Amino acid sequence: MEKVVVIGGGAAGMIAAGTAASRGKHVILLEKNDKLGKKIYITGKGRCNVTNNSDIEELLNHVTTNKNFLYSAFYTFTNDDLIQLLNKYGTSTKVERGNRVFPKSDKASDVIKALEKYMVSYDVDIRLNTEVRGILTQDQKVMGVKLANEKIINCDKIIIATGGMSYPTTGSTGDGYKFAKKIDHTIKPLKPALVPLEIEEDWIKSLQGLSLKNVSLKTMYKNKEVHTEFGEMVFTHFGISGPIVLSMSSYISDYLNNKKINAFLNLKPALDEEKLDKRMIRDFEKYSKKQFKNALSDLLPSKLIPVIIQLSGIQEDKYVNQITKEERKGLVNLFFNLPITITKTRPIKEAIITSGGIDIKEINPSTMESKKMEGLYFTGEVLDVDALTGGYNLQIAFSTGYLAGISV
Ligand SMILES: Cc1cc2nc3c(=O)[nH]c(=O)nc-3n(C[C@H](O)[C@H](O)[C@H](O)COP(=O)(O)OP(=O)(O)OC[C@H]3O[C@@H](n4cnc5c(N)ncnc54)[C@H](O)[C@@H]3O)c2cc1C
Repeated sequence: MEKVVVIGGGAAGMIAAGTAASRGKHVILLEKNDKLGKKIYITGKGRCNVTNNSDIEELLNHVTTNKNFLYSAFYTFTNDDLIQLLNKYGTSTKVERGNRVFPKSDKASDVIKALEKYMVSYDVDIRLNTEVRGILTQDQKVMGVKLANEKIINCDKIIIATGGMSYPTTGSTGDGYKFAKKIDHTIKPLKPALVPLEIEEDWIKSLQGLSLKNVSLKTMYKNKEVHTEFGEMVFTHFGISGPIVLSMSSYISDYLNNKKINAFLNLKPALDEEKLDKRMIRDFEKYSKKQFKNALSDLLPSKLIPVIIQLSGIQEDKYVNQITKEERKGLVNLFFNLPITITKTRPIKEAIITSGGIDIKEINPSTMESKKMEGLYFTGEVLDVDALTGGYNLQIAFSTGYLAGISV
């Protein structure tokens, strides 16, 4: 019986192992942690947004890097296939806003349980606390793996499913890139993706913890719009984070190379200039005898008021009935275009995803096998593919893992 070693017990590795075993292979899964799927536990804030329920073309449209490489994988093992597999092994799912799919229990651990059951039902030999240190090859063909305890496991095929480099405490420490580099594979530069952003302005610190809903964030480079995102964001001690910021990071990372990016926050995207001006006139009438600093509480969260006052250039103790039309118009403009200077992304260890990785030109997209080394397969985040938030990244891990599993 052909012996397959899978390195890494994350999303990609578990599905690859179960699938290869279901097709009659003798599969050994090696995971360096003391439990499986440590990263899955923290996905979707512990609820695991396991995939997205849109059609395949739509899934592909949310892939930011190398979407064409994923056609075969996405059509061979679809989001429906994944949902059915999870159901079969005891985890039912539900669909939420934006077609995001979660386990019905809201527990990421139930996704891991289902994948473990899948592997156990086909007798995968799961070895925890087992770290791989290197790949052994001969005549451009894999021979086995070397473990941290110096032991060697001989095998016919190897599936590398070691993940990226983000959140390294989950076990994703970039080992797969080192293995691949040693045997002459090209590694595309590793960069953080879906990552919080650092901000230059000092006032940002006073907003720490403030979360804004229904706002929009626009980025500009050389006076041209790069991208706009609408939704929810949060201020942190270093800058900004939250769903729209993470998505934005994927669009601006190429521009950010040692350069700053201008961003504009629209605090009232549902209103146009005329409507907001009317609203402000109403509020200014209501608070006409108060000082400016006491006139904005109906329009803004309290933490934001001192910042807006400072940026407006209007004296905070000025009486509202003395504010000029120009000053009010300037204020309206500030509500629509609060200027923010993005200096850089947070480091890779704080990113949801590692962008870059094994060059897909060296991988067969129909099998996930290396074109440079017979019997060597790559799946999941270790590859140079990544997507936006919404369940797409896990679907990449599952689809590529499955494809490797049926191909070994
Ligand atoms: C905070 C956070 C939230 C996220 N939320 C979502 C979400 O809701 N939806 C979504 O689609 N995506 C989400 N993602 C992304 C998603 O988790 C990853 O895309 C996915 O886990 C990648 O799967 P993988 O199997 O390729 O790698 P990983 O899940 O990283 O698994 C790799 C495994 O390999 C093991 N390993 C590494 N090196 C070795 C070695 N030398 N020997 C043995 N074992 C080794 C590691 O210990 C690890 O268990 C999130 C990511 C983060 C960080």
